[in-house]
Amino acid sequence: MHHLLNHLVNQVDYRQDELVDLLKELIQFKTPAPPARNTEEAQQFIDSFLQEKGLSTDKWDVYPGDPNVVGVRKGTHSDSHRSLIVNGHVDVAEVNEDEAWVSDPFTPFVRDGQIIGRGAADMKGGMAGALFAIQLLHDSGIELPGDLTFQSVIGEEVGEAGTLQCCKRGYKADFAIVVDTSDLHIQGQGGVITGWITVKSKETFHDATRKDMIHAGGNLFGASAIEKMTKIIQGLQELERHWSVMKSYPGYPAGTNTINPAVIEGGRHAAFIADECHLWITVHFYPNETHEQVAREIEDHIRAVANGDPWLRENPPVFEWGGSSMIEDRGEIFPSLEVDYDHDAVQTLIQSHQRVQNEAPTVDVSPSVTDGGWFGDAGIPAAIYGPGSLRYAHAVNEQVSIEQLVEYTKTLLTFIYEWCHTEKE
Ligand SMILES: [Zn+2]
Repeated sequence: MHHLLNHLVNQVDYRQDELVDLLKELIQFKTPAPPARNTEEAQQFIDSFLQEKGLSTDKWDVYPGDPNVVGVRKGTHSDSHRSLIVNGHVDVAEVNEDEAWVSDPFTPFVRDGQIIGRGAADMKGGMAGALFAIQLLHDSGIELPGDLTFQSVIGEEVGEAGTLQCCKRGYKADFAIVVDTSDLHIQGQGGVITGWITVKSKETFHDATRKDMIHAGGNLFGASAIEKMTKIIQGLQELERHWSVMKSYPGYPAGTNTINPAVIEGGRHAAFIADECHLWITVHFYPNETHEQVAREIEDHIRAVANGDPWLRENPPVFEWGGSSMIEDRGEIFPSLEVDYDHDAVQTLIQSHQRVQNEAPTVDVSPSVTDGGWFGDAGIPAAIYGPGSLRYAHAVNEQVSIEQLVEYTKTLLTFIYEWCHTEKE
């Protein structure tokens, strides 16, 4: 068995030019999100690629112009052996007109051992490594006992959770590896949830009535929704500080769990008292917390703040959590993901890394968020493990080192081989 595996892994070195070409090809598909709705061609390419390598594929529109692709390589002994999902997103961060790239971001080129282009690090590098691993398995004629599923999803950069759609469609496995940017660390992640807090008056008043609602003897029970929102922002700051003092998680600097008042919209016109105000917040929480739990904590605290104010008590704030897209409904959820160090698959991944790189991998937490949390949410143990550094993700002159990409592909190939040869308990 290990002779076969050695042969496979050596192929990555012999054929590394093909790996580099594959990544360049993926980068050339312009798939930035926003604007999104532009992944059809890239997904068609991946769909054909998977079919040519013997996988049966499933391609469906999550949004028009943004399909997901899932390929399944059925194992020879599915019932008795472990299955694996390899997951990555095909969309990349947006590119702004005024960014000073050394060349066109979608015309990749190699300089000093780095492949430069939008998505090189986040995360077409990981996608290329995974697809190349599938190609090598196919070319070598090796059959795996366990099922291998590859998912190319859309919308990760704008919270559209193509991965959630795969889970909802029923794709499952004993373990999932998300090949997003992690610089070859094995990572879990904290989570993110956005929310809207709305303060709304039951009545609309003219600007000239302000004196009656704020001064002695005015006898008008009204308020500016904008001014009342400042109380809520203060309440959020108190809770944020309380969290930063009381909560922690290994691997994160204290106070990583923030509540950001990101966008505020309110008032209708200078001739009126503001009768409505909306605050868009972004909440970061730790891997051992759920988005439902932190949303409840915020609601409880802000309701208590509102109860201390005569007007807010009668006009309580309304909360709207999450959303399915930053583009469609201005909201998103990234569930958190805890990595179970003792899980068989995590141990196999650690050993695979060790075997290829001759050193133990770092197991820690991502300072960012990925689709990994959706697997945890669906009850599928998972970890993030990909090439490229977050320093380059979303950056001008985004890049990934060829050497790291090669080492990554070898490790991933080893892991796929070993895990899909592991018998179920
Ligand atoms: Zn990513």
